[in-house]
Amino acid sequence: MILKNFEALKAYLETPRNIVIIGHKNPDGDAVGSTLGLKHYLDLKGHTAQVLMPNEFPDFLHWIPGVETVYRFDRQNNQCVKALKKSEIIFLLDFNALHRVGDDMKNTLEKYENDFALIDHHQQPDEFEYMYSDTEICSTCQMVYSFIEMMGDVDLIDKNIATCLYTGIMTDTGSFRFRSTTSKTHRIIADLIDRGAENDRIHSNVYDANSYSRLQLLGQSLSNLKVLPEFKTAFITLSQEEKNKFNYEKGDTEGVVNYALSLKGIVFAVIFIEDIEQGIIKISFRSKGSFSVNKFARSYFNGGGHDNAAGGRSTISMEDTVEKFKSLLPNYKEELLVSYEE
Ligand code: 5GP
Ligand code: MN
Repeated sequence: MILKNFEALKAYLETPRNIVIIGHKNPDGDAVGSTLGLKHYLDLKGHTAQVLMPNEFPDFLHWIPGVETVYRFDRQNNQCVKALKKSEIIFLLDFNALHRVGDDMKNTLEKYENDFALIDHHQQPDEFEYMYSDTEICSTCQMVYSFIEMMGDVDLIDKNIATCLYTGIMTDTGSFRFRSTTSKTHRIIADLIDRGAENDRIHSNVYDANSYSRLQLLGQSLSNLKVLPEFKTAFITLSQEEKNKFNYEKGDTEGVVNYALSLKGIVFAVIFIEDIEQGIIKISFRSKGSFSVNKFARSYFNGGGHDNAAGGRSTISMEDTVEKFKSLLPNYKEELLVSYEE
């Protein structure tokens, strides 16, 4: 755990400030929940906090309290730049390095001489003026709860904050099932329910929001699933053509990789998703046990993340990407076979 200059930050926040809060590109439940949860808290403390996101986020997050106040850098560039100009400090949530907001926004952020304050749980964070980094914690939302607690303000947590933070803890832990879910996570979740988070509605808003075409896209993904039992590995490919056929929308493939990991005996699961617009194959990696997909994604696919969940990309064709992936597996055979004991 790294806690850098926290007392100085606390003192700095004793005066009302203009604050910008930023989440990562392609924001997920943890990015949206943590940025908005922190915004609601800072607003309650008398600050003026504005959340900026690099780009759009999935439909199943559009009900979160405060979501209508978020500015998107790709669409509302003027508002974003204005907010940045006005800001005195910039919070970076749920990512570890500036490039995770995308090149355009990164170039803009680098022009500002404001101090940055990082709250994040990804490995190998870059250095910022203020830092609260802990790779053992399941979600940035849980860290925002602890941040508010360290500020001595747990009693300020109201229904809006509780709802935001509950959402990100739930999505980043696969609904409280991953190893990163601890008794402390459950105690915090219990407290968030006591403070107004309606757990049944939150689960339903996030997980029961499928469109018919999204389910069909899932069907297509599952029929593309391939298993390599000798490496305890399974992978899914999804071409742009298949995405178009089922009216793909942002977020539609979220969680699909977990079906590959749900196969009995599989410890390494991957999904390759073609994105013609960006000219890349976007890759999600998941593992069970000791095999680190963070290292794998960093070493071969320009990515990273956590030990058991990471992402990356490739700029060669789908076919070549899958070939490259398959050709790497023999080097990891031993590691994969002992990764997880059932
Ligand atoms: P996902 O597969 O859901 O996109 O990402 C899984 C995890 O890996 C998330 O924690 C995400 O922040 C991280 N991640 C995804 N893509 C990248 C990437 O390109 N670089 C890095 N460093 N982390 C990534
Ligand atoms: Mn997260």
